[in-house]
Amino acid sequence: LSEDVATPSRTKEILKKHDLVLKKSLGQNFLIDQNILHKIVSAADLGPGKGALEIGPGIGALTQQLAKLAERVLAVEIDQRLLPILAETLEPYPHASVVHGDVLKLDLPELFRQHFEGKVDAVSVVANLPYYITTPIIMKLLEEKLPLENIVVMIQKEVADRMAAAPGSKDYGSLSIAVQFYCEPELVTIVPRTVFVPQPNVDSAVIRLRVRTAPPVDVEDPDFFFEVVQSSFVQRRKTLYNNLAARFFTKETKAELEGLLLGINIVPSRRGETLSMEEFARLTSALRAYGC
Ligand code: SAM
Repeated sequence: LSEDVATPSRTKEILKKHDLVLKKSLGQNFLIDQNILHKIVSAADLGPGKGALEIGPGIGALTQQLAKLAERVLAVEIDQRLLPILAETLEPYPHASVVHGDVLKLDLPELFRQHFEGKVDAVSVVANLPYYITTPIIMKLLEEKLPLENIVVMIQKEVADRMAAAPGSKDYGSLSIAVQFYCEPELVTIVPRTVFVPQPNVDSAVIRLRVRTAPPVDVEDPDFFFEVVQSSFVQRRKTLYNNLAARFFTKETKAELEGLLLGINIVPSRRGETLSMEEFARLTSALRAYGC
């Protein structure tokens, strides 16, 4: 009954038994490799007193491993056809629950209250994410300020590279800054396509985001900070001056931007992709003080 589902033969057997055709539109690429599962689970630092939230359990390959370690597991799955299979896979683990729904629409703070509050000391998200909505899921988890310890997720390698990128690299952009404002990212491992069924047509990576207790920079209005960051990357090949002028200044006031940038030690001809988070924070305060 508790046989691990993440092997090629067992996964095939389950899909056949339930006559299940996997849906590409739901990002259904299931893991069939125990080694990768163990790498994901060990990066999440689970154990007694720890909870795990899984997004998209599929037929329960990762859920089983989470249930072996965590005190409580909550898995959110959109595809109703998978619920009876999950009930079978998770039968030996009564501390693992499945909720049917779209993670982007569910009230996650409420689910946290029901499933984790007063029952565990810390919760981590651990998931092999559906790739068509990787960024919206991560941003929802971060912006709702859920009390999370870690987010350990399998995602497209290209997205993992952007999340972990440092200033000056080609991958650095508004996603890097949004993620690094809330978390410390660390690439855990790169994953070959062969560990999934069916195989996805992109390379994958496991990334760990350690959720920070406070942002690394002092920002009064985070919404305005992210607006400044986004405006600075609207046209990557344009200078910071040109991108900011287009968003916050008029023909008449544009000349003042140069002085504003020089006043905070940022050369106007630099590109957004060279600015550190600290420099973006300084820029945000200066634009606010100017009246933007
Ligand atoms: N965890 C399983 C594994 O590793 O084998 C399955 C991972 S598969 C990449 C992604 C899973 O997310 C699928 O089971 C899919 O049905 C589910 N899913 C897709 N969109 C979802 C959404 N909006 N909300 C919740 N689950 C979703």
